[in-house]
Amino acid sequence: MQTITHILGSSGPLAKHVSGFAPRRQQQDMAEAVGQALSNNELLIAEAGTGTGKTYAYLVPALLLSQEQGKKVMISTGTKNLQDQLFHRDLPTVRKALGVSTSVALLKGRANYLCYHRLEMLEGRRLRPEQQDQLARIRTWLGRTERGDIAELGEVPEDAPIWPQVTSTTDNCLGSDCPVYSDCFVVKARKDAQAAEVLVVNHHL
Ligand code: SF4
Repeated sequence: MQTITHILGSSGPLAKHVSGFAPRRQQQDMAEAVGQALSNNELLIAEAGTGTGKTYAYLVPALLLSQEQGKKVMISTGTKNLQDQLFHRDLPTVRKALGVSTSVALLKGRANYLCYHRLEMLEGRRLRPEQQDQLARIRTWLGRTERGDIAELGEVPEDAPIWPQVTSTTDNCLGSDCPVYSDCFVVKARKDAQAAEVLVVNHHL
């Protein structure tokens, strides 16, 4: 079995498969400490300077722990941007370099997922021209999205007033009484999160 230090070293899989990867002693030390804390169920507070490569220093031991010991790992980021970056860029890179098949999922708060029911309720309602345009873009995107994560649709700003009209809250969600419950993006994201071996969330969930 390869050690964490070797994996992050000059002849390890990260150096081989990740372009521009440079081995760093501090990164290896942090990764070893994270691996040890995870294996022993210990608490670790780690602080490392810019350029240490902190993301890989916790992703490598997290993926190894999940793969080798079958433990579920939850990673929580401070912001949604970091969460997306981790899930869409760093996690696939490290997974591929390590050659592991660990299942991963991304889970955000319900306001980040399109609500089919509320979208249907908007049918025929009078909206301002700008919102009509955004709604048309949302409907087009709906035909290609798999997750319904509104961050995917960059052309409609995250703070656009249309979003609260087509996403749900705990108060207006119909739950299992919803006619489109089986297609619900929130339900799907939560099911995927339960099944995944590595789950990426954010602190605000
Ligand atoms: S279950 Fe709730 S969030 Fe899902 S589509 Fe229905 S109303 Fe929307």
